[in-house]
Amino acid sequence: MLKIVLEGHDNYYGIGDVVRLFYGPCREDKETRAVLCDFGPDMTLISAADASSVLPVNRQVKRDLYEKLAQITGMSFPWGSLTGIRPTVVAAEENFDHRALIEKYFVREDKARLACDTARLEKSIAEQAARKLNVYAGVPFCPGRCEYCSFIAQDVTKHLNRLHDYADAMITEMDTLAPFISEVPGTIYMGGGTPTVFDEGDMRRVLESMKEVFRAGEKTEFTVEAGRPDTITEGKLIAMRDNGVNRICINPQTMRDETLRRINRGHTAADVVKVYEQARRNGFDVINMDLIAGLKYETADDFLNSVKTVAELDLENITIHTLYKKRRAGMSRDDVLNADGRGDIDKAVQRAYEFLYGRGYVPYYMYRQKDTELGLENTGFCKPGTHNVYNVAMMSYDSNVLSVGAGAMSKRAFEDGRYERCPNVKDVSLYMNEARECAQKKISFFDLRRNAR
Ligand code: SF4
Repeated sequence: MLKIVLEGHDNYYGIGDVVRLFYGPCREDKETRAVLCDFGPDMTLISAADASSVLPVNRQVKRDLYEKLAQITGMSFPWGSLTGIRPTVVAAEENFDHRALIEKYFVREDKARLACDTARLEKSIAEQAARKLNVYAGVPFCPGRCEYCSFIAQDVTKHLNRLHDYADAMITEMDTLAPFISEVPGTIYMGGGTPTVFDEGDMRRVLESMKEVFRAGEKTEFTVEAGRPDTITEGKLIAMRDNGVNRICINPQTMRDETLRRINRGHTAADVVKVYEQARRNGFDVINMDLIAGLKYETADDFLNSVKTVAELDLENITIHTLYKKRRAGMSRDDVLNADGRGDIDKAVQRAYEFLYGRGYVPYYMYRQKDTELGLENTGFCKPGTHNVYNVAMMSYDSNVLSVGAGAMSKRAFEDGRYERCPNVKDVSLYMNEARECAQKKISFFDLRRNAR
């Protein structure tokens, strides 16, 4: 068993992150001040704070441990010891100097450059959005569950027969908020789940309410995550256009039919193209598509083909995700890279980025989830000038997000740099009973009575 004993610091979490990267699951033992991993080599290491380090203690101890485990295993990871913090935050701290990321955190050069490129644009977008209000409306339902879905804890298909009631609850929550919304939001984002799972009538009712309560105008960035093409109809697209929606996401995840079928997506690549053309005909001039690298049942080359296929559509935004996947204990780097015979996903992502750069796309936001393969990232690319401000604002510490819907999380940024969060109840049935109370809670949270209309 590998035992890491902490001396002079309490960064159990960060040490655990680094151990997991190399060996898989581990646990904390506060009594012995140690992080323990059953799958590592039989040895005890000391993780000591070093007062002379130029890095903050929490980062220094991770760096030291990463260096040691890299020596022991001969393994390295694309983001080095950078875990638990967005790479673009560190890139901005380092004045966009990619060499600092390489030297201080062992970040691989291509990732260090990517972080700096992304951070420059992300920072300027965040500055535009600073202190402004953004609105999120969450619809945690889907027509079926994709095999890889890790997004929503509760079953997204469970309450499909109650969508009409859910639309009512959202409208109740927004109506309760309405008299207190004095600021016109810069961005509105309807996400999920799959918001287009509503039928045309409910879709229109909810959008009308959003437009009216938040006074969406021509200048408002208003996005609907249309998600699964099998839920998008011409009628819903028209309802969106009529109510000020000016951006949509149509998310194929892959353009390979065999994979789509096996991951339970319920649509084909041709359906994606058909809906895309419908959306263009209906006047949507900013369209995003999400793709996932590392899906089961397909190879790295299949992923690259999907990237090339959607780029042919001349989309404004393409977002590349890496599949969330718990690294199994005892997997070697090669096992991870070539799991299920898929080929080198790390390299495929690298090649996808090069391809997108070559087609004139630039990266503008990035985040990492725990337990993706090799700790790889998710990156949003856009054609210059077509970035989605909400995607940056929702991650920024300087922006407010007022959220409606079951489980939706609001956040408030304060002048002194603090920010606080306020969740809506997660349970869909509870939410439908308590939509008014959810609104009241937010009226207090944002202190909306002060500037009521
Ligand atoms: S569309 Fe998204 S949220 Fe819905 S089941 Fe698929 S992965 Fe999960």
